[in-house]
Amino acid sequence: MDSSCVATSFRIPEQVLTSSGQRMQLLGFGTAAYPLVTLEVAKQAILQAIELGYRHFDTTYIYGTEQPLGEAIVEAISLGLIKSRDELFITTKLWCSDAYGELVLPQLHKSLQNLRIEYVDLYLIHWPLSSKQGRYEFPKKLREYCRANGVLLIGYSPLGASGTLWGSSRVLENEVLKEIAEAKEKTVAQICLKWAFEEGVGVIVKSFNVERMKQNLEILDWSLSEEERKRIGDLPQSRGCTGESFVSENGTFKTLEEFWDGEHRFGSNGEKMPVLGFGTAVFPSVGAEATKMAILQSIRLGYRHFDTAAKYGSEQPLGEAIQEALSIGLIQSRDELFITTKLWCGDAHGDLVVPALKRSLQNLKLEYLDLFLIHWPVSCKPGTYEFPIKEENFFPMDFNSVWAAMEECQRLNLTKSIGVSNFSCKKLTDILAIANIPPAVNQVEMNPMWQQKKLREFCRANGIFLTAYSPLGANGTFWGSDRVLECEVLKEIAKAKGKTAAQVSLRWIYQQGVGVIVKSFNGERMKQNLGIFDWSLDEDELKKIDELPQSRGVTGVAYTSKYGPFRTVEDIWDGEM
Ligand code: NAP
Repeated sequence: MDSSCVATSFRIPEQVLTSSGQRMQLLGFGTAAYPLVTLEVAKQAILQAIELGYRHFDTTYIYGTEQPLGEAIVEAISLGLIKSRDELFITTKLWCSDAYGELVLPQLHKSLQNLRIEYVDLYLIHWPLSSKQGRYEFPKKLREYCRANGVLLIGYSPLGASGTLWGSSRVLENEVLKEIAEAKEKTVAQICLKWAFEEGVGVIVKSFNVERMKQNLEILDWSLSEEERKRIGDLPQSRGCTGESFVSENGTFKTLEEFWDGEHRFGSNGEKMPVLGFGTAVFPSVGAEATKMAILQSIRLGYRHFDTAAKYGSEQPLGEAIQEALSIGLIQSRDELFITTKLWCGDAHGDLVVPALKRSLQNLKLEYLDLFLIHWPVSCKPGTYEFPIKEENFFPMDFNSVWAAMEECQRLNLTKSIGVSNFSCKKLTDILAIANIPPAVNQVEMNPMWQQKKLREFCRANGIFLTAYSPLGANGTFWGSDRVLECEVLKEIAKAKGKTAAQVSLRWIYQQGVGVIVKSFNGERMKQNLGIFDWSLDEDELKKIDELPQSRGVTGVAYTSKYGPFRTVEDIWDGEM
C-alpha cells in the first residue's frame, strides 16, 4: 500500500454519545455500494480508508459489507494500521425482516460473526417497520427535535447517492453548490460534507475511489461563510430516498404520508402541502361575506390549505379572510398557509397566463401562490369568463406555450409549484414530454365511487401528487349528487366504526396516499372532516370500498362542443372512463 496516503496530520472531530458516553468520529465511512462490488473490492476500499485515517465505519447485514469490513479490520491489525479493534467505531443495523423481539439478539450475533468482532459500537433499527422477509433525508424539523432530545443525527446520502439505485445527481449537479464550490476552490462533495458538519450532524459518506476518499477527508481546515450557509439553507427541499419501498397497501404504512408521519413534500420545489385542504367552490352562491366568515372559521379550526380558482369568485373573500386572520392573530404569517388557485380556460393562452396569475394574486392580496393549476385541459376565447362556455368558443389548448408560461410563473417566484387539474394519463404524458418543470399536482375528482386507480398509478410512477376534489361527491351542488354520502356500504362501515359516511370517504382517500380538498361552510361538518387522522380503515373495509361500482360524477360534459376540440366526454378523458 502507498504510504504517502497515510493521513496523520488531522483528527476528525468526535461526538460523545449521551447514553453510553462513547466517542464517535463525526465523519464515518459508508460501505453500501451500488452497483454492487465484490467482497475483495469492498475490503480493499475499507483498508485504504483505514490507512487514510477513517475510524468510523457504517455497514448493515443487507449491504453485504459486514464480511469485507470484518476481514479489513483483521488485516489492518495485522499490517499495524491500527493496534486494536477498539480504535474503530463500528455501526451495523437490524434489517426489517429481523425486527421482531426474538430475532434481534440472534441477528446481532450473526452480524458480529460476519464482522469478526465481539461487540459493535452502535446497533441501529434500520427502518421503523417490520417485514415478513429478509430505507431518511433529515429535514430541519428532525434535526431540531434530535438536538433537543440528545439524539445525534447522522446524515446518510450526504452527496445525494449519485449513481445508486436510491439516489440521483441532484446534489452534485446543484448550481448553487457548484458556484460555492468554484468560489472556494473545493468540490461540491466537500461543500456538502462541510455544510453537514457545520450544522452539527454526523455524516456517513461512501467512496471506494482513493482520490475521493482523501477529498472527503479534506474538510476540516476551512469553513463556509454566513452568506454561503444561507444560500444552502434556502435550497428547495425534497426527499431523495422517499421510502416508497416500505409502503404497501397491506403493510404498517399504507402511504408515504403515514410513513413520514405527515411530513410529505412534493413537486420540483419540495413544497410541503397539508394533505387535507379546504374547498371554496360554493353552490348555490352564499356571497362574499359568508365565504370570508366560513374561511376564517376554518382557519380557527386548524385548516391551513385553501383551494380556490379564478372562476369560483372566492379569491377575494379568501384574500380578505387571510388579512383578517393575520390581524386578529389566528396566524402569524401568510407562510403558514398553502394557497392554490387555478387558471381559467379564457386565460389558457401563452401570453395571458402570467397576467392572469398576477390578477389572482391581486384578488388574494398575496405576493405568491403555493400552487397554480391549469383548471381544465382546454382553452376558450381569450379573455372570456362565462360559464357554461359557448360551444363555438372552445379552442384546443397549446400545451407548449401554456405550460412554458406556467413554468415562467414558477421562475418568477409568483408561485412555488405548478400543476394541472382534470388531466387524463394521456394528457399528463403530453405535458411531461414538453415540460422542463413537471407538474407537481393533478387535481381530479376522486371518491369511493370514482377511485381513479389507473390515474393514481400513473401519477405515483411519475412523481405527480394526486389531489381529490369532490371527495364527498359534492352533494347539493349542480355538479354533484348524494351517491357517496348515501352509499350503503360506506354507511355500514361508518356505523360500525362510530364515524360518518363523509369521514369514511375522506379517510379512504387519505389511506390511498392522495391529497383531499373538501368543502363545508358548516362549523360542525368542518370539524368532522378534520377528524380522520386518528383511526384507520382495516383491510376488510378497504376491500369492500374497493369493490364499489365505479362511474364519474363530474363527467366534464360542459367542456364538450360539437365544434371540438372535445366532441364527447370520452375525448376529454381520452377514453379513461
Ligand atoms: P365535496 O367537498 O365533496 O362536497 C361538498 C358538499 O358536501 C357541500 O354541499 C357540503 O355542505 C357537504 N358536506 C361537507 N362536509 C360534509 C359532511 N361531513 N357531511 C355531510 N355533508 C358534507 O365537493 P366539492 O365542493 O365539489 O369539492 C371540494 C373542493 O374541490 C371544491 O370546493 C373546490 O375547491 C374543489 N373542486 C375543484 C374542481 C376542479 O375542477 N379542479 C372541481 C370541483 C371541486 P356544507 O357546506 O353545508 O357542509
